Amino acid sequence: MPEREDNHYDILIAGGGFAGSLTALILHNQGFKVCLVEKGQHPRFAIGESSTPIADMQLRDIAVKYNLPWLFDFSRYGSWQQSHPEIVCGLKRGFSFFKHYPGQNFTTDTDHVNELLVAASVDDIQSDTNWLRADFDAFLVDKVKEAGINYFDLTEIIAAKRETQWEFKCTRHDEPLTIHSAFLIDATGSGVLIDNLFGVKSSSDSFLTDSFAVFSHFNGIARWTELLKKAGIPTDDFPYDPDNSALHQILDEGWIWMLRFNDQRTSFGFALSGREKSLQGLKTQEIWDAMLKKYPGINQVLEDSVLAPVPGKIIQSGRLQRKVDSCFGTGWAVLPHTAGFVDPLFSSGIAHSLAGMQKLVTILGENFNNPEPLYVDLQQYEDSVFAELKLIDQLVAGCYLTMAHFKLFNAWSMLYFAATIAHEQRLLKKLPAGCFLGADDEYITNMVQEIYTDLLKIIDSPQLSDEDVTQFTNRVRERIKPLNTAGLLDVSLKNMYRHTAAEL
Ligand SMILES: Cc1cc2nc3c(=O)[nH]c(=O)nc-3n(C[C@H](O)[C@H](O)[C@H](O)COP(=O)(O)OP(=O)(O)OC[C@H]3O[C@@H](n4cnc5c(N)ncnc54)[C@H](O)[C@@H]3O)c2cc1C
Repeated sequence: MPEREDNHYDILIAGGGFAGSLTALILHNQGFKVCLVEKGQHPRFAIGESSTPIADMQLRDIAVKYNLPWLFDFSRYGSWQQSHPEIVCGLKRGFSFFKHYPGQNFTTDTDHVNELLVAASVDDIQSDTNWLRADFDAFLVDKVKEAGINYFDLTEIIAAKRETQWEFKCTRHDEPLTIHSAFLIDATGSGVLIDNLFGVKSSSDSFLTDSFAVFSHFNGIARWTELLKKAGIPTDDFPYDPDNSALHQILDEGWIWMLRFNDQRTSFGFALSGREKSLQGLKTQEIWDAMLKKYPGINQVLEDSVLAPVPGKIIQSGRLQRKVDSCFGTGWAVLPHTAGFVDPLFSSGIAHSLAGMQKLVTILGENFNNPEPLYVDLQQYEDSVFAELKLIDQLVAGCYLTMAHFKLFNAWSMLYFAATIAHEQRLLKKLPAGCFLGADDEYITNMVQEIYTDLLKIIDSPQLSDEDVTQFTNRVRERIKPLNTAGLLDVSLKNMYRHTAAEL
C-alpha cells in the first residue's frame, strides 16, 4: 500500500519486468524513494529467456555493488539450483546451431558440416541459464515488495504533467490514482508509453534486420540429441549436450530457438525474415504449418509435444526491430529494451538491459540533483544505447543473409563470438565496460562494417563458389585474429568450440 497518501517519489519506474524490478531495488538501496508501476500482474508469461556469460557477470556485479547478495546465486546454474530450485530455469551450456534444408531430414558429416557448437561455460555448475521469466520476474517483484518499495500492479499511467515534478494520472484496478515523482524511468519494454505521454516515436526504419517471431511454450518436446542418435548421427565429440543450451535450428528463411527448462517445458519459436515472400499474408497457424511441412526435421521435434497451458497459444509478433527517437528527455529516461530491440539471435537482450541499467543508475546516483551534468551524461547514455543497437543489428543482419549458406553463416557468426569474448575479457579484467559488445571500439565496429560490405558483394551472386566462401572465411579469420583467444575458425576444431568460455 502507498506509504503516504500523496504518493510522492524521487523516481517512478514504469514496467515490472526483471529490469524494472532490479532498477527499483538498486535505486532504493542507493537511498532514492522509488515506486514501481506495472500494467499487468505477476506471475505472467514473458519471452526473453536465454542468459549469457555477460549477463551473468552483470548480475554478480550488481549483487555486490548494490548490496543485493541473494542475486548472486542467479548468475550460475549450480548456485541457482542450490538456493532456489523452486524458480524454474534451464541449463544453458552454450550456443548450438544445426542447419536444416527444405524437404530433408537433418544430415551432417564427421566434420560437422551442418553443426556449430560454441561452449559458453566449462561445466553445468558454472553454466548460464534459461530463465522461466514468469517465475523469475515474480520472484523479483516479491523482493521489491519485501524491500518496502511501493509496487502498484494493474496500474496504467494515463497522462503526465510536469512543472518542477511529474504528476502522473493513473488508473489502478480501474480506480483513479495520482503519483508524483521527480523522474521517470521507463522499463516497459516498448516505446508505447513514451509515445503516449511525450509523443516520442519509435521506428524500424534504420535497421538492416527485418524479422518477426512466432512462438510459444510446449510440453514434451523431443530431445534433439535423442533424434540425432536415432538418425545415427554421432554426438560423442559435442562439447556439451545441445539440449542443455540455446539450441538454434537454422533454416533458409530464419531460425528456431529451443530453450529447455528443467521441468517439462521448452520455449520454442521461429524468428523469420520479414522479407520472405512465401510467408507474407499468412496467418499465424499457416506460417507454423508451412514451416513444419517444409522442414521435416523440425516437424519431428514437435511431433509428440503439446502447447503448455501458459501461454496456451502460438503468439506472433510484428516486426521485431524498433528504436525510439530519444532515450531521455526532461525528467525521464528509458532502459535499453524500451529504447529498442533487434532480434533474439545471440540472446543479447538480457545482457544489454542489465548493462544499460547499470549505466543509468550510476548517472542518476551521481547527478540526480544536478541537471547540467545529468543531461550531458544522459546524452552519452543515449549515444551508447544507439551504437549498441546498431552493432547488434549489423551482426544479426549478416546472419539472416547467410542462413541459406551455412558455411558463410558459420564464418560470419564468429564476428559476434569474437566481439563477445573481447567484451567478456574487458569485464573480467575490471576495465571500464564501455559500450556493450564493444560498440565503442573502432576495431570491432570497423571489422563488422568491412566484413558486412564484403558479404554483400558475394551474397547475391547467382553462383556463390567454394572459392568465394573460402576467401570470405579467411578474411573473417584474419580480422578476428587480435580478439580470437578461442580458436574460432580453427579448421581442426570442426565447428566444436570447447574453450570460448570466459573464466568465471
Ligand atoms: C521474441 C523475443 C525473444 C527474445 N529472446 C531473448 C533471449 O533469448 N535472450 C535475451 O537475452 N533476450 C531476449 N529477448 C529480449 C528480452 O525479451 C528483453 O531484453 C527483456 O525482456 C527486457 O526486460 P525488461 O524487464 O526490460 O522488459 P519486459 O520483459 O518487456 O518487461 C516489461 C514489463 O513492463 C510492463 N509494462 C508494459 N507496458 C507498461 C506500461 N505502460 N506501464 C506499466 N508497465 C508496463 C509489462 O507488463 C512487463 O511486465 C527476446 C525478445 C523477443 C521479442
